[in-house]
Amino acid sequence: MGLIESLSTENRQRLEAIATEKRNILGFKAYEPLPAEILAEHFQATIFTAETVPNTESEQVKILCNSDNWSAGIISQKPLLIVYNSRHTPARKQSNLMHEFAHIILNHKMVCYDPKTEPPQRRQQDEDEAVFLGGCLQIPRRGLLWAKQKQMNLSQVAVHFNASEEMVRFRGNVNGIFFDC
Ligand SMILES: [Zn+2]
Repeated sequence: MGLIESLSTENRQRLEAIATEKRNILGFKAYEPLPAEILAEHFQATIFTAETVPNTESEQVKILCNSDNWSAGIISQKPLLIVYNSRHTPARKQSNLMHEFAHIILNHKMVCYDPKTEPPQRRQQDEDEAVFLGGCLQIPRRGLLWAKQKQMNLSQVAVHFNASEEMVRFRGNVNGIFFDC
C-alpha cells in the first residue's frame, strides 16, 4: 500500500470526509465497526464467491477458485453484483469489499470483467482512491483516535474493526497514529 504520496493531501481529506458522511448516513459512529454487509445492503448489492457466481464458465471458475491473485471485482453495476475471493481471510474479505464499494461511491468508470484475461486494470488514480476510501470506511481517522485513547494495541484495533493488522498499520501510518504490537 504505497499510495500515500500518490494522492494529494486535499484528495485524502476529501476521501476521509466522504467516508465520514457515508458512515453518518448509515448510522455508524466513527468508533463502530462497519460491516461490508451493511454497505452491500445499502447499495442493494449481491455478493458472490467465485464458486457461487452465476453464468460463469467452469474453466473461469476453476481459475478464480485456485488463485490468490485477485481480491474482488464488480461483475455488473445494474444490478450491482460483486464477486470476492473466498480464499482470503475474513478481514481481507471486508477490506476487499470496502474497496469495491469505494469505486461505486466515487462513480469510477467500470472496467470489463473477464477472468480469462489479466485482472482488469482500472486507472491507477481510481485504484489509489478506492484503496484509500475503502480504508477510511473500514477504520475512520476518528475511530483510530478513539482506539488510541482506549490504549488499544494493533491487534485489538484490527479485531474491533474487522480489519487486517496490515490495514490498521496503513491507516495509522497515513494519520500519524501508531499502535503497539
Ligand atoms: Zn479497485
